[in-house]
Amino acid sequence: MDVRAKLRETFGFEAFRPGQEAIVEAVLEGRDLLAVMPTGAGKSLCYQLPATLLPGLTLVVSPLIALMKDQVDALREHGIAAALINSSQSAGEQRETLERVRAGEVKLLYVAPERFGAAGFLERIQGVPLSLMAIDEAHCISQWGHQFRPDYTRLGEVRELLAPERLAGFTATATQEVRDDIARELRLRDPMIEVHGFDRPELFFGAEQLAGKKLKAARVLHHLGALREQHGEDASAIVYCGTRKDTEALTELLRGKGVPAIAYHAGLGDEERAQAQDAFMSGETPVVVATNAFGMGVDKADIRLVLHHDLPGSVEAYYQEAGRAGRDGEPAKAILLWGLGDLRLRRFFIEKGTPSPADLDRVWERLSTGGRPGQVRAGTTRELAERAGVEAGVVPVILRLLEKAGHLRPEEAEEDEEGRLRLRLLDTAPRSGLRVDREGLLLFRQLEEARLERMVTYAGRALCRRRALLDYFGDRDGPAPGELCGSCDACEAALARGGATLELSEASYERVRAALALVDSTDFPFGRRKLAAALAGEDAPGLERTSLVRHPAAGSFACLGGGALAAAEQVLDRCVGAALLSVHHDPYPVITITARGRAVLAGAAEVPGEIAALADEDQVTAALDEARARERAARAAAPRRRKKKGAPSPESFGPVDEALFERLRELRSRLASEQGVPPYVIFHDKHLAAIAALQPRSEEALLGVPGMGPKKLEKYGAALLELLRDG
Ligand code: ADP
Ligand code: MG
Repeated sequence: MDVRAKLRETFGFEAFRPGQEAIVEAVLEGRDLLAVMPTGAGKSLCYQLPATLLPGLTLVVSPLIALMKDQVDALREHGIAAALINSSQSAGEQRETLERVRAGEVKLLYVAPERFGAAGFLERIQGVPLSLMAIDEAHCISQWGHQFRPDYTRLGEVRELLAPERLAGFTATATQEVRDDIARELRLRDPMIEVHGFDRPELFFGAEQLAGKKLKAARVLHHLGALREQHGEDASAIVYCGTRKDTEALTELLRGKGVPAIAYHAGLGDEERAQAQDAFMSGETPVVVATNAFGMGVDKADIRLVLHHDLPGSVEAYYQEAGRAGRDGEPAKAILLWGLGDLRLRRFFIEKGTPSPADLDRVWERLSTGGRPGQVRAGTTRELAERAGVEAGVVPVILRLLEKAGHLRPEEAEEDEEGRLRLRLLDTAPRSGLRVDREGLLLFRQLEEARLERMVTYAGRALCRRRALLDYFGDRDGPAPGELCGSCDACEAALARGGATLELSEASYERVRAALALVDSTDFPFGRRKLAAALAGEDAPGLERTSLVRHPAAGSFACLGGGALAAAEQVLDRCVGAALLSVHHDPYPVITITARGRAVLAGAAEVPGEIAALADEDQVTAALDEARARERAARAAAPRRRKKKGAPSPESFGPVDEALFERLRELRSRLASEQGVPPYVIFHDKHLAAIAALQPRSEEALLGVPGMGPKKLEKYGAALLELLRDG
């Protein structure tokens, strides 16, 4: 039967959603498959429809008992023979369902992953012809996800035992690490990877780089003002902040300006949180200022604006939050306000979420002390974290490592939404006897840092943001490379400059080739940071000692000035996206050249124009100019702070070049460690800010900067002037 007819007749849908048909066809064809689609895009149909067409049983592994039941009920309504087995059923019920399965009376059987550990289940199901094994929420297999479920890691073994004709994994999590984990752990064979449904053409994406909270507050007011002007006073908006404190401060500020707003964060009581959510959902309070605790289960279709007041920790976190705008399909905006200063907060969060060896010891001590092998320990993730004295966020990673090393085994859990755990101790080894791979802890942190870096690259991007987001997720649908999508700030600006297409200099193509040549030149692979710094002619920790700095490509991006480093990073990223370069975890992410990349170097293939544009002088300059103009506008609109008399604040000298400020801080750290003194002894931040604003080019001009006397000039003047000249 034709799949479209089946879609209509059995499921009652008029048409496939983006990607569904391709995935259904692929499953029917019989290849292993990994399908990545956002939540709500319709993944279930992609295994349910083939299940009705395939001759044998489809076994669906799904993590949440409540969701399973809903799906089975819905399938039965459509007249499809679906069933589930779980631990809340009586032994009699379970036996009866299994009998029906063995008699071939069931098309889809839903089970939780823990089921495969239950006595006798695997044996009973082994003889049943299995057409398809579908793993829903497949990211639960990855320890990099926050929804890690240890039982998922046994599915690879189960697959070997049951030998389904094909296996398909489904997830909304599209990061490369998670995808690799899924493919490896499920032992997928030459899998087809289908990524669809990430494009949101109704959303306008923008980002503004701003230094400091005052400027950000001004832009928040500006965007909310524009929203209310365009869509009326009831228009819904979410403003996401990085900290609880900022949600409250910003809420107060907005209220003071007559914008009805309410704060939401995990530090509020249950009742206050429920009230805030109700007020927003009902439309009574149109603006919610929230931390990322807000959003789970927020299903408000008419949100017209999602503003980020701070840099999120990863592109996937950003896209999920931004994607809450425009669910009704009407135009909406997602604007990111950010500054390099946000990185400090993000790094702090990474630190907090990364287990240290001491955390590992504490958790194990808590679990094993007074226990004996074979004993089961029960509780929630949060309780375990509290008793062990560690952050709740680090517990799943630690448990995964303990499980991998064979110290414990998780038992089937009834209720999972709370993170309830039942852990069986396999031994009670002392700390020193733990067989855990402690390197794994380090790798976790490296990956989080790499994700943050990708987020910064997105934020600072000068070309189509929609394309960037889709490339990040590996979704090939959406605007073509180089096309001006018209629904992001970068394309809007390019259109305003009069270009329907981009005219690029020959040198920009040359620069991309230089980047490829640099990667190709070494026997030993390097990470993105060192490669980009070498291309930009800037410093990075340890770079001086590498062969990169002597390569002819070193410094080839330097003429792009303040935009050089960001341009080099973006070129490397896009080359990875276009499979000219690839990333390996070794165990840290390093970049190597691909056969396609070599073909470009050999002149057998072209440098894609979209990548060359990232290294084009005019494009980079225009983007920098726009960022500066935006910052000036924001500064003019910023709420004024009363100034103390005496020392002039750097603001009075004009806009601070943040990149330069950061480089000045790096220089200060270097000088400080050379001289063995704390950095503030050399210069205060406010003095560096003044230097970054005034950008003095001579000793005389330097002397005019606050905080600079003849002594300091003598000691540090040369180093400062050198940096100012080259930066
Ligand atoms: P996911 O698992 O990707 O989050 P679901 O499979 O739960 O999404 O589907 C989300 C909703 O979309 C469900 O209500 C489903 O019935 C509906 N849906 C799925 N496919 C279609 C389609 N082709 N046409 C209309 N509605 C669909
Ligand atoms: Mg689903």
